[in-house]
Amino acid sequence: MASDSKHIDTLLQHTGIADFDPASGAAPVGLPPVRTSTVRFQNLDALETAERRKAAGERVVAYGRMGLDTHVALEDVFKHLEQGTHCYLAPSGLSAITLAFMSLLSAGDHALVADNVYGPVHALDHAVLSRMGIELTFFAPNHDDIDTLVRPNTRVLYVESPGSLLFEMLDIPALAEKARRHGLVLVSDNTWGSGYIYKPLALGAQVSVVAGTKYVGGHSDLMLGAVVTNDAGIAQRINKTQYAMGYSISADDAWLALRGVRTLPLRMAQHARNALRVCEFLAEREEVARLYHPALPSDPGHALWRRDCTGSNGMMAAALRLPMAQARVFVDALKLFSIGYSWGGFESLVQLVSPQSLAGHRYWRGDGPAVVRLHIGLEAPEDLIEDLAQALDRARGAA
Ligand SMILES: *Cc1c(COP(=O)(O)O)cnc(C)c1O
Repeated sequence: MASDSKHIDTLLQHTGIADFDPASGAAPVGLPPVRTSTVRFQNLDALETAERRKAAGERVVAYGRMGLDTHVALEDVFKHLEQGTHCYLAPSGLSAITLAFMSLLSAGDHALVADNVYGPVHALDHAVLSRMGIELTFFAPNHDDIDTLVRPNTRVLYVESPGSLLFEMLDIPALAEKARRHGLVLVSDNTWGSGYIYKPLALGAQVSVVAGTKYVGGHSDLMLGAVVTNDAGIAQRINKTQYAMGYSISADDAWLALRGVRTLPLRMAQHARNALRVCEFLAEREEVARLYHPALPSDPGHALWRRDCTGSNGMMAAALRLPMAQARVFVDALKLFSIGYSWGGFESLVQLVSPQSLAGHRYWRGDGPAVVRLHIGLEAPEDLIEDLAQALDRARGAA
């Protein structure tokens, strides 16, 4: 399973395959979505054996909430992707983040959190953790010295690489070394890499969190998250918390994710190729002040990206030399890019990043009046480039 030596592209095609029916010797290829609430047992011995194994921390089929075969197959997929030994599913990426925090922190504890993480982590801080007596300190991962920020009660170092909005690459091996010295658990949001092009656990993190909503699902039609670890002690804490908090995902969503992930290698490579083509076009336009995309040689994170990543994806941001009013004309003039949150599906998306959400990112140095975040989809890149060109022309004409 997680230790399987086969290439990940092969494992993604051979995980979640239906078993043969012993009577007919036949089977469908893919596992169907196995839906249930109640699990029935053949006799009391079978039930008691399941209970005993569950008490010992094993994953057993005992009740619908933790899911049956479809869920197990998807957990295996995430373990293969992230090179982890344990996986816990959650109904969204954000709830996977919440599961990690709730599993690793108690009242009186403190955590260091990179200032470039997914925005709603601030809501988790304000609305929940602060009420529980848990304190977070947001820090600039490429500027602040962690050694000076660690307190006696600091337990967790939480990061995201590349960072949300501007794709700031972090040095995970260096952060892991610092975390180890201070006895902190390093948790990394790996939604960008989705385990396919970036593997935080292999680079020294103990917990990787992924929004399966994005590239794993890949078709903008499901919400799902996963918490993966290769530490048995941490796994026990996540397991107990997941159970106690009643996390559950539907078999249909697990099935959609399994179906989507088969083409992850193809999709990711094409998103990356298309995004690079779009970057090369935008770099020549005078309306563009700066591009953020670590696979681009001009990006400050490019050396780290080359060292630690095995590929890229369709995410990029551009700081525009246009005033906000003209940037709005640009976004509205796009025809092939939908205006919307999220990313990782087949389609191109644009988001006008609010100045307030950038304000907290110390990586942001005011490189232009407006920032647009683009998800470059699987359309033909020449069509996307033509669309961007006409929208930039429209915006310039609106001066
Ligand atoms: C989208 C996203 C999440 C949250 O995932 P949901 O499934 O939308 O809750 C978490 N982290 C990052 C980096 C994301 O982009």
